[in-house]
Amino acid sequence: MTTSVESVETYTRTPVVDTLKTENIGKIVRLCGWVRTRRDSKGGFSFIEVNDGSTFNSVQVLAENTLPNYENEVLKLGIGSSIEVIGSIVESPGKGQTTEVKAQSLKVFGYADPATYPLQKKGTSMEFLRTISHLRPRTNTFGAVARVRNEICKSIHNFFQSRGFVYVHTPIITGSDAEGAGQMFKVTTLDLDKLPRTPDGAIDFEQDFFGKATNLTVSGQLQGEMYATALSNIYTFGPTFRAENSNTSRHLSEFWMIEPEMAFCDLEGNMQCAEEFLKTIFNDVLTNCPVDMNFFNERIEKTTIETLKHICDSAFIRISYTEAVDILLKSGETFEFPVSWGIDLQSEHERYLTEKKFKKPVIVYDYPKDIKAFYMRLNEDGKTVRAMDVLVPKIGEIIGGSQREERLDKLEERMKACHLDPEEYGAYLDLRRFGTVPHAGFGLGLERTVQFVTGMGNIRDVIPFPRAPKTADF
Ligand code: ATP
Ligand code: MN
Repeated sequence: MTTSVESVETYTRTPVVDTLKTENIGKIVRLCGWVRTRRDSKGGFSFIEVNDGSTFNSVQVLAENTLPNYENEVLKLGIGSSIEVIGSIVESPGKGQTTEVKAQSLKVFGYADPATYPLQKKGTSMEFLRTISHLRPRTNTFGAVARVRNEICKSIHNFFQSRGFVYVHTPIITGSDAEGAGQMFKVTTLDLDKLPRTPDGAIDFEQDFFGKATNLTVSGQLQGEMYATALSNIYTFGPTFRAENSNTSRHLSEFWMIEPEMAFCDLEGNMQCAEEFLKTIFNDVLTNCPVDMNFFNERIEKTTIETLKHICDSAFIRISYTEAVDILLKSGETFEFPVSWGIDLQSEHERYLTEKKFKKPVIVYDYPKDIKAFYMRLNEDGKTVRAMDVLVPKIGEIIGGSQREERLDKLEERMKACHLDPEEYGAYLDLRRFGTVPHAGFGLGLERTVQFVTGMGNIRDVIPFPRAPKTADF
């Protein structure tokens, strides 16, 4: 019987998504997946819903009691069981689907005991599902999140590749420790019970694996600049790690960041790139994931599709930090953190601007130098730097970026003011010594993007295995 299998696409298996297409009616297929439901009919047959993650929907399998294992096996199938069906795609007479698979044979790979399988009930809470990260991808929600996350990653690579950006891999273990001081995870092979000490009592990192103190990266930017000042346009896309103790719905300890860096580019070009980039991602998801997006729109966040469409069709608002502070002061709102020129904008301020005032993405630029990193380009006023944050409704900051300081003397001044040792940044300063160029870049948080697109409330539910304070399961 297996010799007559047609439509062999995914390594001798036809994914559910293809069995749902009417153009495939009449084909004999090998269908594999996990049972979602089984309904038995008095007429001597059963309907089995099978899902394999290739699409949101399941396909209905018609299993008749003429199958030799109908009584002993088919009637034992419950949610979570895994099966293989050889059969033909036929037009479905039932409501709710246009095709179904009529089984010629059905093989059981493995049963799932209904007494112990944790996904029996519908409507289990997100909190509970987080405790079973190994099984939650089998739910509608987490399957959809995984597919949309994948589409976003594809869109990101397409965006940069089609514009000639070179994908650069920056290191995950880093030897430069000052960039995010205090927020980094240490990397060591020293015996924590017997730490070697120097004569003055400090830990002797010369005896450590790398002969110096090392950490997990918080950003690939510094190394990204090194490649941009040779290859012109580059991007990094990799995991980053932050040991900040932020127990919020928007922070993870391990998250993925996309960081383009562009030589011969200023803040204006940077903002333009960021806006085009986000619009491209949103548009690709709407075009390529309509079924999953309909689910999010109906079940998770009622306005997500409308919001994304609206964003794709209109220009982002651009205001300076000083204008933003002015708007907040005149808003008549009472904020938990009072507003004055010089403060770091809090989430409540960001959300007022993007959700209430403008109702669309807002790019805030030219921040006070004292609340931003040393490498951002100083403006003529001597008070502000060429920084920009892109804010979106519900999330707040989704992108942070800047034009970099390319003038050696100005950069050295700023480093001293920030109590950084220029000796430690010799390589970074070399980029300004030898053929320096204006350049700019930004970082987009992948999980905040997935969160925004899907409308999922907690960032821990848009990454397969979340890492957060006191949380590192699986
Ligand atoms: P926030 O103020 O929200 O903590 P940040 O200013 O520390 O963010 P950047 O250092 O500018 O963020 O990082 C660039 C982007 O990376 C942010 O705009 C955001 O999308 C994402 N990001 C930063 N920190 C986290 C985190 N802990 N978890 C998930 N994404 C993050
Ligand atoms: Mn942060």
